[in-house]
Amino acid sequence: PKACVQTSAASGKSVENVVIIGSGPAGYTAAIYAARANLKPVVFEGYQVGGVPGGQLMTTTEVENFPGFPDGITGPDLMDRMRRQAERWGAELFLEDVEHIDVKSNPFTVQSSEREVKCHSVIFATGATAKRLRLPREDEFWSRGISACAICDGASPLFKGQILAVVGGGDTATEEAIYLTKYARHVHLLVRGDQLRASRAMQDRVYNNPNITLHFNTEAVDVVSNTKGQMSGILTRKVDTGEESVLEAKGLFYGIGHSPNSQLLQGQVKLDSSGYVLVEEGTAKTSVEGVFAAGDVQDHEWRQAVTAAGSGCIAALSVERYLVRND
Ligand code: FAD
Repeated sequence: PKACVQTSAASGKSVENVVIIGSGPAGYTAAIYAARANLKPVVFEGYQVGGVPGGQLMTTTEVENFPGFPDGITGPDLMDRMRRQAERWGAELFLEDVEHIDVKSNPFTVQSSEREVKCHSVIFATGATAKRLRLPREDEFWSRGISACAICDGASPLFKGQILAVVGGGDTATEEAIYLTKYARHVHLLVRGDQLRASRAMQDRVYNNPNITLHFNTEAVDVVSNTKGQMSGILTRKVDTGEESVLEAKGLFYGIGHSPNSQLLQGQVKLDSSGYVLVEEGTAKTSVEGVFAAGDVQDHEWRQAVTAAGSGCIAALSVERYLVRND
C-alpha cells in the first residue's frame, strides 16, 4: 500500500490512508494523531448513542479522573473538545454508521450508510455496549421502566422520587445505584452472588448509603405491571433457595457489563470468545496487517477514557509506521 496524503472521502475516488471507525476517546485521539501526521484521516463517528457522536461518555455527567481537568469536566464537554481538536488538525468527520467492512484484501473497503471508502489501513474504535438481561418482558418495558444507563435516565420523571432497582454487583452496578439515590426514593441492588465485585471504595459507598438496600443471591426474573400496564415491580428469585417474590419498583437498571461492538469484524480478524478484538500484546495490531483496534472494543479489563485515548494514540502511530514501511 501507498500513503496518499491528498485524498478526500468526499471525492470517492482515491484510496485513503486511514479510516477510523468510532468517535469515543479512542477514535478521536487516533484522529488527532493521524491528522497531525498529515494522514488526512477519515473518521466515521457513528450515531449509535442517541444520535450524537462521542461514544459512551456522552451518557455521563462529571468525569473526575481524566487528567488535565482538576475540577472535573462533563462527559459531553470532554468529547466535544476532543472532536474539535481532531477537526482542527484536519480529520474529516462523517456522522455515519459503518455498515460493512472488507479487510480481506488491501485496499480495504469501508461501507457507511452514505458512502464507500477504500483505504490502506483501518483503526477500529467502536467501543462497547451495555449488556441486557433478556427478561421475558424486557422489550415491552425497555425505556418505559427498564434502562441500562442510570446517568442518562435517572432524572427522568418516570423514575424521580420512585423506588428503583439495579441489577449487578460490580463497579457499574454500584455506581448506578449510588447515582440513582440522588433522584430515587429508595434503591434496591440485586446481586446474584453472595458478595459485591466492585472496588473497595465503591463497596464502602454502597454500605454507607442508607438509601440502598442490598439483596444478595437474588436475580431478576421478570418485570411485573399494574392494571394500567405500568411497571410496578420486579419478580425476583433467590438463587440459593429458588424462592420467588415481587419487589415493588418503578424502574430496573442494568449494571451487568458490556459487549464489544465488534460485529463488523466477525470472520475477518481474530476475536476472543467474548467478541473482543484480539490485539498483539502491548500494541494495537490485530490479526490482519493494516487493521488496528483501540479502546473498549479490544479492552475487557480497564475500560477507561484515558486508557482508550492511550490506545487510540498507539493505533495512530502504528498506522503511520505501517504506511511508511509499505510506501
Ligand atoms: P466508546 O466511547 O464506546 O465509543 C465508541 C464509538 O464508536 C461511539 O461513538 C459509537 O457510536 C461508535 N461506533 C460503534 N459502532 C459503529 C459503527 N458501526 N460505525 C461507526 N461508529 C460506530 N471512563 C472514565 O475514564 N471515567 C469516567 O468517569 C467514566 N464514566 C463512565 C460513565 C458511563 C455511564 C459509562 C457508560 C462509561 C464511563 N467510562 C468512564 C468509560 C468510558 O466511557 C469508556 O471506557 C470509553 O468511552 C471507551 O472509549 P472508546 O473510544 O473505546 O469507545
